[in-house]
Amino acid sequence: MPASSSALPPPDLAQVVSCVSGYDPKALPVDKVQEVIRRFVQPVRVAERVDLRATLGRVLAEDVIAPMDVPAHNNSGMDGYALRSGDLGADGAATLRIAGTGLAGHEFSGDVPAGSCLRIMTGAVLPAGCDTVVPQEFCRVEGELIHIPAGVLKRGDNARMRGEDLRAGQPALLAGKLLRPADIGLIASLGQAEVMVWRRLRVAFLSSGDELRSIGQPLSEGCVYDSNRYTLWAMLQRLGCDVLDLGVVRDDPALLEAALRQACENADAVITSGGVSVGEADHLRSVMAALGDVAFWRIAMRPGRPMAFGSIASHGHRAVLFGLPGNPVAVMVTFYAFVRDALLHMMGAPVKPLPLLPVAAQTTLRKRPGRTEYQRAVLTPLPDQPGRYSARTTGDQGSGILRSMSEADGFIVLHHEQGSVQAGEMVDFLPFEGLV
Ligand code: AMP
Ligand code: MG
Repeated sequence: MPASSSALPPPDLAQVVSCVSGYDPKALPVDKVQEVIRRFVQPVRVAERVDLRATLGRVLAEDVIAPMDVPAHNNSGMDGYALRSGDLGADGAATLRIAGTGLAGHEFSGDVPAGSCLRIMTGAVLPAGCDTVVPQEFCRVEGELIHIPAGVLKRGDNARMRGEDLRAGQPALLAGKLLRPADIGLIASLGQAEVMVWRRLRVAFLSSGDELRSIGQPLSEGCVYDSNRYTLWAMLQRLGCDVLDLGVVRDDPALLEAALRQACENADAVITSGGVSVGEADHLRSVMAALGDVAFWRIAMRPGRPMAFGSIASHGHRAVLFGLPGNPVAVMVTFYAFVRDALLHMMGAPVKPLPLLPVAAQTTLRKRPGRTEYQRAVLTPLPDQPGRYSARTTGDQGSGILRSMSEADGFIVLHHEQGSVQAGEMVDFLPFEGLV
């Protein structure tokens, strides 16, 4: 099976950009970049059957059909007494005889005739004819009788009906669902041990720049340790991708070509960092261009700016290429602004815009219209307003200051058209953490 088998051949980049109004590779707004990428990337459609416990974060390749009703029986939602609603008076009051006890997981074999009730526990099967459960705390028990006062109960209360969660034959989950804990539990509730999911996306990455050293090497004058491969590795892990680390590749055309070819032959997407800005003396750009269909952009954003995008191929194997800038914050910002959605789409998952939280800016934020800014910021809970926050930046917003990402709770997103923000004004905040 080829690593990069897509259902459809990827479109031509020139064709894609011709559909995007106002496309200017030298000053491309963030939303245009997103549009080009969305039109260009294709899902990788190779399915595999996987044990349920290994499917967290994977994407369903086919609908999961409920083989039975869930719950499979009418049952009690409370500890109390199961009864026939026809036995309740017009005001809801009744006196009933206790016919026996029904426990969860144990069948009650007796009869519950009209005028009587069954002492019942949560989850126990409702006997035939019973459609309502009165919680035990609502009734007074007197020997074999219970007294239900007026006004506490109506027909159907606390009864869980067969099939109310899922109906036999109906899809319980639809293909394309990114599986979260509730979905895994839902599939388990159907008694299903394995699931058809799309195979993991394979993503190769490398760092480029002659000043980069790998961990374990001595740091000579003018050199820095390569942190981008570690951030990229971690971000890709979070997305559930299979990763292929191609290391630091020296600025040598033959080495760069060999590495990119290896990426194409083994991965669906390749991410590089460094070496794509206009001023670069590096060979990376020309090697990328020689291997495929690649555009070099200047994006109207901060941090970020230079980025290469397209596809490259080697011996018939094609990979989507993201040539990210080298600065450690720019790598992360461009990954979250562009690469994340593209990879999710390639994984077969639905892609929705991320929710933005309105927060109050603690200080004035200087910004000029005409570019999108992602300022790293820390949230502070507002006193007496649970769940509401204000935000302040982490300080120096230099794109080489990785500490600004580490300290932040998320980005203050200052949109393309937006100008400076005054202290106290509301701004959009993109949190790093999600709940599930
Ligand atoms: P470039 O995009 O190649 O011009 O790189 C911009 C800046 O990011 C330079 O200061 C590089 O040293 C730095 N840089 C590039 N790649 C990495 C990396 N993998 N890890 C840490 N810093 C990097
Ligand atoms: Mg460089």
